[in-house]
Amino acid sequence: MSRRGVLVTGGAGFIGSHFARLAVEQGRTIVVLDDLSSGTPGCLPASLHLVEGDIGDVAVVKRIVHAHDIGSVVHFAGKLGAEASVRAPEAYFDVNVVRALRLLDTVRELGIRAFLFSSTAAVYGQPDLVPVPETAPLAPLNPCGTSKLAFEHALSAVGAAHGIAWGALRYFNAAGARRDGTLAENHEPETHLVPLALDAALGKRPPIVVFGSDHPTPDGTCVRDFIHVEDLAVAHLRALDAVEVGTTVGPVNLGTGRGHSVREVLATIASVLGRPVPHTFGPRRPGDPPQLVADVRRARAVLGWRATRTSLATMIEDALRARMRRPQFVRTPDIEEIAEKWLCPAETAPDWDAVDQASWESFPASDPPAYP
Ligand code: UDP
Repeated sequence: MSRRGVLVTGGAGFIGSHFARLAVEQGRTIVVLDDLSSGTPGCLPASLHLVEGDIGDVAVVKRIVHAHDIGSVVHFAGKLGAEASVRAPEAYFDVNVVRALRLLDTVRELGIRAFLFSSTAAVYGQPDLVPVPETAPLAPLNPCGTSKLAFEHALSAVGAAHGIAWGALRYFNAAGARRDGTLAENHEPETHLVPLALDAALGKRPPIVVFGSDHPTPDGTCVRDFIHVEDLAVAHLRALDAVEVGTTVGPVNLGTGRGHSVREVLATIASVLGRPVPHTFGPRRPGDPPQLVADVRRARAVLGWRATRTSLATMIEDALRARMRRPQFVRTPDIEEIAEKWLCPAETAPDWDAVDQASWESFPASDPPAYP
């Protein structure tokens, strides 16, 4: 197997940094290219090379590829956020499509034939079928999802034309954090349920507004497939192994296959913290599908991977530990007991050997679902 360098764009972000850390621990040579518009570079290990720059900067990308013998690309860098993308779509198409294409074109010209892309379950819009297979209609509801899907189409076509093995990993709801608390979700502004609800419970933000209690779901609140970010990182390593040996994995859903409602998330946070999550109920958020749960069979078949940290409580405990260890977290007297319990010294690095992923040696050829 090729062990050339891996260019990781967006490797200072939430999912990218978890992947980069894991990949370095697995002995990979990683170079992160990140413009630091939203990432946290301090979280990256010293053994990893960080270049501050733009994915669309051809000269920078060329320099990295030559200097570090890059053989593959894992492309996390991109703009996220459904609502913000409606307000400023041009920025989303610029970063997620135009610059991403320039990156793809640059590395293709340099002979790179393995490319993984961070995609999203938002490409499905409001799916009729739950759990959602990769063959479900692709009907994103906002420029964030549309721009991610546009790049999937481009990658599929460029990959076929030029013999590039590729994968588009469609994340459901990433949550949790590295178990030792050293990497945290750090979006600015924060819009995601788990960090917002943790902050509300810790008195760091106002009560959370639950978007709708009249959805067609068992308890009226939306249902999501929360997946531990460490599981996502492992899935990327499996996909990287595949594209490096020339196997296109195509679009792959990454989730647990199990849904939890917003109410369940708030109840689990309350039970972990031993205090309620202050919340009110508001109207539905436009474009929120009532249920979004992954059909995970394709991931199992083509990556030999499945999520292993599937307990919602574990994801929340890991997210809490990491959230409280962020430099901007202020320890106040009202949370003394919680701080004592969760600001414990960092554990050693996660025991990756315990993860049931290791015995997948070959990647069966599998036709990815066709794009319409
Ligand atoms: N949510 C909510 N209040 C918030 C943020 C999120 O009720 O302040 C709900 C949202 O409607 C969705 C779920 O929590 O059903 C997960 O939302 P998030 O923004 O974390 O991820 P998304 O599913 O939109 O990718």
